[in-house]
Amino acid sequence: MKNKSPESIAAQALGWIDEKTKGVVEPIYTSTTFIRDSDNQYRSGRVYARDQNPTFDQAEAVLSALEGGHASLLFASGMASATAVFQALAPGDHVLAPKVMYWSLRNWLKNFATHWGLLIDFIDMDSPDAVRAAIRPKLTKLVWIETPANPLWTITDIALICEIAHAHGAMVVVDSTVATPVLSQPLKLGADIVMHAATKYLNGHSDVIAGTLTTREDNPTWQRIRSIRAQLGGVLGPFEAWLLTRGMRTLYPRVRTACASAQAIAEHFAAHPRVAEVMYPGLPSFAGHAVAAKQMTGGFGGMMSIRIKAGEGAAIATAANVQLWKRATSLGGVESLIEHRASVEGPGTPAPTDLLRLSVGIEATGDLIDDLEQALEMVVA
Ligand SMILES: *Cc1c(COP(=O)(O)O)cnc(C)c1O
Repeated sequence: MKNKSPESIAAQALGWIDEKTKGVVEPIYTSTTFIRDSDNQYRSGRVYARDQNPTFDQAEAVLSALEGGHASLLFASGMASATAVFQALAPGDHVLAPKVMYWSLRNWLKNFATHWGLLIDFIDMDSPDAVRAAIRPKLTKLVWIETPANPLWTITDIALICEIAHAHGAMVVVDSTVATPVLSQPLKLGADIVMHAATKYLNGHSDVIAGTLTTREDNPTWQRIRSIRAQLGGVLGPFEAWLLTRGMRTLYPRVRTACASAQAIAEHFAAHPRVAEVMYPGLPSFAGHAVAAKQMTGGFGGMMSIRIKAGEGAAIATAANVQLWKRATSLGGVESLIEHRASVEGPGTPAPTDLLRLSVGIEATGDLIDDLEQALEMVVA
C-alpha cells in the first residue's frame, strides 16, 4: 500500500518489526561497537555507535516520512540540533534570525555564535519587508524561522520568506517545534531544513530531552551537519531514541486533542474581565491568524499566552493559584503547564511582564478552564 496517511505511519512507526523475534516493537540496541568482517570490511555498515546506533534509525525514518524529507538526524537536545546548523556555517557568514524566538538559542547566537565570526541580525521575521531590507546579497547564508514563535506565537510566512531567501542564495531553516508535522510541513513550503526540539511534542511525555533535523535534500551543508554530529558527539542515547519512537506513535491524537482544547480555552478567556489579551494564532483577532490559517492545517497548536490585566504581580499570583495546571517550564507534554515567562527569560525577553505562557495538554478542556477561572478569581483585580 503506497501513500499511507501520516496518522498510520506514526501509529505503527512505519510498521517496522523486529526480524529476530517478530516483535511489533523494535529492541533498544546498546552495543557501542560492531564486528568487522574477517577480510577487514564493515559490510554491516556500522563501525561505532556514536552516530551509528541502530536505535536511531526508526525515529529518524518516521520523522523523515512525516516531514516529507530526504533524511533526519537525532541529537542530544533541541539546542544540540539547532546549534549544529549554525556550526556548519563559516566565519563571516551572515544570518537572519527572528527577534521573537526560543530564548536560549537567541542567547547562544548573541553570546557564542558571534564570537565565532557569524554576523547575525535579529529582525521582525513576520515582516517580509524587514527580511528584504536585512538580506545582504551573497553574504546572507541562512535565514532562521521559528513559527509559531516563543513566547508571543508570532507567525512567519514560511513560503514567502523562502522565496526571498532563495532568490539571494540563502538557505532557510525552520524551528517547527510548536507546529509539529501534524500542523505544518515546512519542507513542502520550501524550507531546506526543519528542526524540532523533540523534547516537546514529538516525544510528548516530558521524559526525554532530544532534538532533530530533517533535510529536504542531500547536499554539502547536510553532510557537514552529519559530520558535526559524528565528531562533536552531541548524540542521543539509545533508550531516549527508543522512547522518542514510542512517543511519536501517538503524536497525531495528542496534538489534535491539545489543539482543540487550546482553541476552546483561547476563545473562553478572550473576553474575560481579568484578561487583557489572549495571544493564540487560532483567534481571528490575532495578527498572524491569516498566515497561520494558510500554512497550518487542522489546528493552530497547543501553545498560547495570556496577559493579566492587573499586571505582573497578578500574573505570578494566578500561576501560584492553579491546581491542575503544572507550574513549570517546557511545553508539548500530555500535562498542561503554566509559566510566568519573563521570569525565566530575564533581560532581553520580548515577553511583557504580565504574560503567562500556557502549554495545553490532553486533560479535559472543562477542567483546564475551571482551574484557570478559579486561579484568576482568587487574584485581587
Ligand atoms: C525547547 C525548545 C528548544 C530547545 O530544545 P531542548 O531540547 O530544550 O534543547 C528549541 N526551540 C523551541 C521552540 C523549544 O521550545
